[in-house]
Amino acid sequence: MPDHAALRALPSVDQLLRTTALAAACERFGHAATAMAVRRTLDDARDAIRAGQPAPLPEGLIAQALLALEAADRSNLRPLFNLTGTVLHTNLGRALLAEAAIEAATAAMREAAALELDLDTGRRGERDDHLRVLLCELTGAEDATLVNNNAAAVLIALNALGAGREAIVSRGELIEIGGAFRMPDIMQRAGVRLVEVGTTNRTHPKDYRAALRPETGLILKVHPSNYRIEGFTAEVENRDLAALAHEGGVPLLNDLGSGTLVDLSRWGLKREPTVRDTVLEGADLVTFSGDKLLGGPQAGFIVGRKDLVAAVNRNPLKRALRVDKIRIAALVATLKLYRDPERLAERLPTLRLLARKQPEILALSQRLAAPVAEALGSRATVEVCACRSQIGSGALPIDTLPSAGLRLAAGGGTALARLAADLRALPRPVLGHIADDALVLDLRCLEDEAGLLASLRALPR
Ligand SMILES: *Cc1c(COP(=O)(O)O)cnc(C)c1O
Repeated sequence: MPDHAALRALPSVDQLLRTTALAAACERFGHAATAMAVRRTLDDARDAIRAGQPAPLPEGLIAQALLALEAADRSNLRPLFNLTGTVLHTNLGRALLAEAAIEAATAAMREAAALELDLDTGRRGERDDHLRVLLCELTGAEDATLVNNNAAAVLIALNALGAGREAIVSRGELIEIGGAFRMPDIMQRAGVRLVEVGTTNRTHPKDYRAALRPETGLILKVHPSNYRIEGFTAEVENRDLAALAHEGGVPLLNDLGSGTLVDLSRWGLKREPTVRDTVLEGADLVTFSGDKLLGGPQAGFIVGRKDLVAAVNRNPLKRALRVDKIRIAALVATLKLYRDPERLAERLPTLRLLARKQPEILALSQRLAAPVAEALGSRATVEVCACRSQIGSGALPIDTLPSAGLRLAAGGGTALARLAADLRALPRPVLGHIADDALVLDLRCLEDEAGLLASLRALPR
């Protein structure tokens, strides 16, 4: 039997909204949202009473409504501690922007900017002009343009160079990048017919040469990014491939993926061919990302021959894939930092974190072990450990970086999973990775020690 007296005794929505706590909630979350939360709380209370449970007190109802409002207000996009050991984590938004980029983006958000206006002449300008000069200076290319991301850059470049025609690509380069970017699918959507040559592990000049015919629109070379074939392998060098393409009268499109503008070996990372190298070696168009090793916001750059960049800019897809003023402002500020390579690691967070040396991270781990153990209380034991960081985003997948961190052991698998879940649920979440029955917090990307400790202290005991 439902307890009719208890149901009748529940306060009304209006009565609850007039309490001090919920009146303040109306100020903070708005009247409509607060009233909705109160109504839902009362519905739950009625269901509970009908199920034979005791009637909740008004204080309980208020607390539940506030909890629901707080939870709905908390964004999943809130800042977190990326202690996963992957510096450019695609699921965590890749590169952290340089302060100069953040300032430029903020200014562009707040005020009008001459995005498509030439301030000298007063005539209409092009939004890409803000980046064209910088990109040409940094890559040695004749011309440059940009679109939403590198996937879009590949799509539009393929479409502009080869729609209705054939694109020759090595079987060893028909890759899938995370997030369902598969080269054969992109080629199909770009309207080019895929002509695969060679084998998975070996492709020779004669393979390309045999495939060249009047229907050929381009040769495509793709950086394998997230995998590496080792052993009995052969690929055709950029220079030879460019010569081959030009013999056949077609352009060479080189998708570099991450793409770097400087030699990273000066910061102890593996040397990757730079965009400038690739341009010099004869690629006609080169595509690369803005938010991988380059350390800027999401963007896809296309640099190379003037006539081909013009063809990309004329392509109707360009309007659909264009970049807004906020990102253009951040990209200009990011690229400007590359004019002063001496100070790059200091100013560009991606590089600063990648260049961090193990002894420094180990010292940080040792410093934090005791306070972290104290914050976690009985939930985990804490040990300093050596680990290896990944660059992420498919850049240099095999070349991990020696790092250090904290190994949190919580007993059984369920306790460990619960600890990881509670760390994710913190107001400022803490993300690590599970390895050998422990949660490892790689401290390479930690720059705010006090913030981490404050976050951990909010963990339910
Ligand atoms: C990452 C990558 C892409 C996609 O770039 P996004 O910036 O993620 O769109 C395309 N090609 C290669 C080779 C890549 O490594």
